[in-house]
Amino acid sequence: MDIIQCKFCKRPFQTINSKICPSCLEQIDKDFIVVRDYIYDNKKADIDEVSENTGVNKAIVLHLLREGRLQIVSVESGSALLFCEVCKKPISKGRLCESCRTDVSSTMKQSVGGGVGGHENNPSRRTNKTSEPSDGKGGNARMGS
Ligand SMILES: [Zn+2]
Ligand SMILES: [Zn+2]
Repeated sequence: MDIIQCKFCKRPFQTINSKICPSCLEQIDKDFIVVRDYIYDNKKADIDEVSENTGVNKAIVLHLLREGRLQIVSVESGSALLFCEVCKKPISKGRLCESCRTDVSSTMKQSVGGGVGGHENNPSRRTNKTSEPSDGKGGNARMGS
C-alpha cells in the first residue's frame, strides 16, 4: 500500500494501484451516468458543453474519455478532444488511434523476451501530463560485462 495524492481532490489516500481516491471514484461513477446520458441525447456536444450542462468537472469528463468509458463523437467535426499519443491524430476515446494500437501490440509481441529484472511493465502507472522521457530507453543499459 502506498499513500498518494488523489488525482482529483488532491487528498492523500492509501492505494494499491488507483490514482483516484474511493470517494472520487464514487463521484466519477455518478458523473459517468450523467455524462453518458447527456452525450446520448447530445451527440454533437463537445467537452465544454458537456461539462457545463451536466455540472461535471471537465477533468472527470476527460478522465472518462481516456479510460474509454465515454465516447464523444464530435471528432469528425474537427473539435477533437483527445489525440493519439503516438501520431497525434484526433481520436474519440482511449489514448491511441486504431492503427497505433495495432502497432503497439505488434511491437510488444516482438520485444517479448527482454525480461530484465523483475520489473513488470505497468502501462498505467504514470499518466502525468508532463512530458517525461519514457523510461525503458537508455535508462539502465547493461554496463560493462
Ligand atoms: Zn479524491
Ligand atoms: Zn496514432
